[in-house]
Amino acid sequence: MYSLLKELFPICRSITGDGVRESLGIIGRRIPLRVTEVPSGTRCFDWTVPDEWNISSASITDSKGRKTVDFADNNLHVVNYSEPFSGTLEREELMPHLHSIPSQPDVIPYVTTYYKRRWGFCLRHKDLLKLKKGKYKVEIKSSLKPGSLTFADAVIPGRTKKEIVISSYLCHPSLANDSISGVVVATHLYKYLKARKDNYYSYRFIFVPETIGAIAYLKMHKEHFLKNVYAGLVLTCLGDSGPFNYKKTRQGDHSLDRICANVLKHSGHPYSLREFWLPGSDERQYSSPGFNIPVGSLMRSVYGEFKEYHTSDDDLNFVKEKHLEETLQMYKSVIDAVESDFHYINLNPFCELHLSKYGLGSNPFKQEDPNRYFRKILTLLNFSDGKHSLCEIADKLDVPVLELAEFAKTLEQKKLMRRS
Ligand SMILES: [Zn+2]
Repeated sequence: MYSLLKELFPICRSITGDGVRESLGIIGRRIPLRVTEVPSGTRCFDWTVPDEWNISSASITDSKGRKTVDFADNNLHVVNYSEPFSGTLEREELMPHLHSIPSQPDVIPYVTTYYKRRWGFCLRHKDLLKLKKGKYKVEIKSSLKPGSLTFADAVIPGRTKKEIVISSYLCHPSLANDSISGVVVATHLYKYLKARKDNYYSYRFIFVPETIGAIAYLKMHKEHFLKNVYAGLVLTCLGDSGPFNYKKTRQGDHSLDRICANVLKHSGHPYSLREFWLPGSDERQYSSPGFNIPVGSLMRSVYGEFKEYHTSDDDLNFVKEKHLEETLQMYKSVIDAVESDFHYINLNPFCELHLSKYGLGSNPFKQEDPNRYFRKILTLLNFSDGKHSLCEIADKLDVPVLELAEFAKTLEQKKLMRRS
């Protein structure tokens, strides 16, 4: 996974432009993507797709000809969506265009100006303090003109048309954990689901620029979403060493919330469950009241809460392969659990089954304390009345839903239970 992260990291992305296209090209070499261009000026609900932004270079040069700030060193140095500019300014005139974080003097902040025409630079506060009185030559070679917004998707059909959306966003420039880690895990999750046989749900993978991209996507697929999308997950901030955090859906008690809680509880990793809140990422759009789609977000450290967030310290050192791998495993478990969480019906509901008749007198999968085993199998059979989901029964037993899924599958194969 780290190789994809490394390939995507240096590219200067934004909500529109060639950086997004190049990034989608890289992902598209790994999984099949359908790329869509939405022209500037397109109305999407209350929003309008802005002019397309591209940039080739930007720098500030002092009176001795030294480049004091150079976009070529780090693409965070330019305020994202800066309009083109060329001129010579006194330090005092330049200052209002400079952004730094005094409390974090060693990092470059990430600043954007998508919907307000202006220009600016971001730099380490310690470097800002070094700017002496005098003239500075400022050059920003960018373009802001009608073009398009680019997004991509990929669908894996399942046995039902009901879809689960896996959404990640691709608009941040060189930031590793926020944005790109989600894209990387989503790409690998696609491969997992593609190889996984007999998926019940269909899966829709969405790679969009955050906010405006999700809004444009929803505008284009409104009827489809209202009809077919069952639930979703937004993938971001997945590669740091922090504990897991699950942001619940707007509904708060959806089966996806129950499943994520069950998987996390039995994973052995530290974790927290959080109620849905605003703002956030693209769950804001999917869960807007008109769509009201249950979309959660399973993260590591939460955006806005780690000190590296939206700074140059959110880099390739901050994200580790080990953490990406752990997170991918967690998502695979969540998907496996979602794919197992049926409502079953016990086909012999009058009194208990004579378990030994069916080779179920002891745990068929592992050696286990008989009392513990009987509690599980009898509880599963008892509550398999079509009204309780497998995860609800697992929670009654305080066992992993995937553990109970093995029993359910066996009972189904022996024609003792069926899916309702
Ligand atoms: Zn961000």
